Amino acid sequence: MKDNRQQILFGFVFGICLVVAAFLIGRRTRPVQIDGGYRVVMGTFARIVVAADSERKARDCIEAGFEELRRIDSLMSDYKADSELSKVNREAFGHPVKVSNELFGILQKSIDFSRLSNGAFDITVGPLVDLWHKAGETNSMPDESVIAATKARVGYEKLILDANAITVRFAVDGMRLDLGGIAKGYSVDMAVEIMKQKGAIAGMVDSGGNIYCFGKPVDKDTWLVGVQDPNIADSVERIADSPDGSGWMVLKLMDYAVATSGDYRRFVTVGGKKVSHIIDTNTAGGANKLAGDTIIAKTALEADALSTAVNVLGPEKGLALIESLAGVECILITAGPEFGVIKSKGADSYIK
Ligand code: AMP
Ligand code: MG
Repeated sequence: MKDNRQQILFGFVFGICLVVAAFLIGRRTRPVQIDGGYRVVMGTFARIVVAADSERKARDCIEAGFEELRRIDSLMSDYKADSELSKVNREAFGHPVKVSNELFGILQKSIDFSRLSNGAFDITVGPLVDLWHKAGETNSMPDESVIAATKARVGYEKLILDANAITVRFAVDGMRLDLGGIAKGYSVDMAVEIMKQKGAIAGMVDSGGNIYCFGKPVDKDTWLVGVQDPNIADSVERIADSPDGSGWMVLKLMDYAVATSGDYRRFVTVGGKKVSHIIDTNTAGGANKLAGDTIIAKTALEADALSTAVNVLGPEKGLALIESLAGVECILITAGPEFGVIKSKGADSYIK
């Protein structure tokens, strides 16, 4: 009788141990997804979400990701006086400036995108960005002669890179590099890399609309990214026929990047005229052929640079460029009042 009770007790305890073990093993294999929320980095909002096999690991990944975004900002910001890029901007006309391999790599990539886009993407655009920024502040149209003189200080062929010495030189006085069209994308790729090294199983990094999604999110089949209609007030109806019918276009992404460029959030008004923060170096004025464009690509750097380039190129040349590239798709919104939607051939497979 006593033996029997002992057996029952033993069986009971053993059963509880089994349940606890199954719970612990289950907990360990099921990833935990943490949303790190939004923080201000690079003058814009950044958000990181990570899935890892523990909450602690996910949080460590998020901190490392934000730290990487900040590190790249301190290297490539053109408004922080102590950044490496600012040193180049101050000194590169006087003498060749030795730079880090990392900054040199981005400058080389920027020139590659200038060549690819026939000069639509051009990081030497700084003086024109400044000119229109000041014009917006004072609300006064710059003189034609001032525009022409500023344009003469712009052009990627005036940027001299020495790959042996790892130096940068300006051919013309008054040049200024602006990595605003590519640095965020690069920083997103780098943050993703670091988080993967730290054990992130899946995640999403968004820096000012430059987004990369990797792995499978917890409790969902794929990452869903809402793209804001660049002209909400004017074209809600058009976007309302996007599949989710919410006034947003929703993209499904896994191990893919997306970037959106447009004049809908950042522009200046000069004499009642809207001037985009994206400059067409051919006209020396704001890009105005597209209200917005969204690029889907394998890296955030590529999506970022191409979204800026296509915004300048406009619907025909922009679409032709994207169709010529493997693994890249686009959704273009043409300038108002039409606000037509143009998609590349493979874009639909990423739209929910
Ligand atoms: P994005 O939002 O990625 O299209 O980048 C726009 C930012 O890139 C602007 O705010 C400028 O800092 C910079 N930029 C403006 N025009 C150009 C251009 N034609 N090529 C490259 N960068 C540009
Ligand atoms: Mg860009």
